Amino acid sequence: MLFKKGSRLLVVAAHPDDETLGCGGTILKAISMGVSVSVLFLGEGISARFDKKDYNTKEFLKATNKRQDGCIKALKILGVKDFEFNNYYCCQFDKINLLTFVKIIEKKIKKFNPDTIITHNINEVNIDHIKTFEALEVASRPFLGSNLKLILGMEIPCSGNWKFNQSFKPNFFVDINKFWKLKIKAWKCYKGEERQFPFPRSVEGIETMAKLRGMQSGLIKAEGFKLFRQIISKD
Ligand SMILES: [Zn+2]
Repeated sequence: MLFKKGSRLLVVAAHPDDETLGCGGTILKAISMGVSVSVLFLGEGISARFDKKDYNTKEFLKATNKRQDGCIKALKILGVKDFEFNNYYCCQFDKINLLTFVKIIEKKIKKFNPDTIITHNINEVNIDHIKTFEALEVASRPFLGSNLKLILGMEIPCSGNWKFNQSFKPNFFVDINKFWKLKIKAWKCYKGEERQFPFPRSVEGIETMAKLRGMQSGLIKAEGFKLFRQIISKD
């Protein structure tokens, strides 16, 4: 289970940067306690900013590489050595058969054998986050003898903060105060992604969220999650 030496945490994220924004502090904390962490990315996170006709232009490839390079640097700061990119187009996951994503996640679960998974929650504006959640829900079906005991949903600033209805209500909190500076250092690797406050993906915005989740849990700074499924078994 999470935060136990020898545990195995898989993060399934739609885009490079979701892992840092949603659970960067939790990843840092887990690794500091001897947990093995792997991150699976389904999409590239850039193409929504381009016209379709400009896909595969020099500028497009440059922007995609920049995002991926930033991600590799961020993962290094977080301490993650095991990661996989799948470059499905950004904000177009609804155009892909859900089974495609289910199979990618199933394959990863089989290979990495996690006891804990963190993924997106459904209360998001971003369609890729929603489809990642839906695919994970299918791919993580329980079975006798499964190692998977805990599944959590993370929140992403912007996408999660702007829902008209059914806002994210965390019921699982992780103290990230000790790892705050490193989380922000990792976030800074995503050059060009930050905008000025009150944009939620500003340092001040991310800090405000961490403090809000802290206020809800009696902590200085926290990351909030939705507990989807927890299984207590004999062993
Ligand atoms: Zn995202």
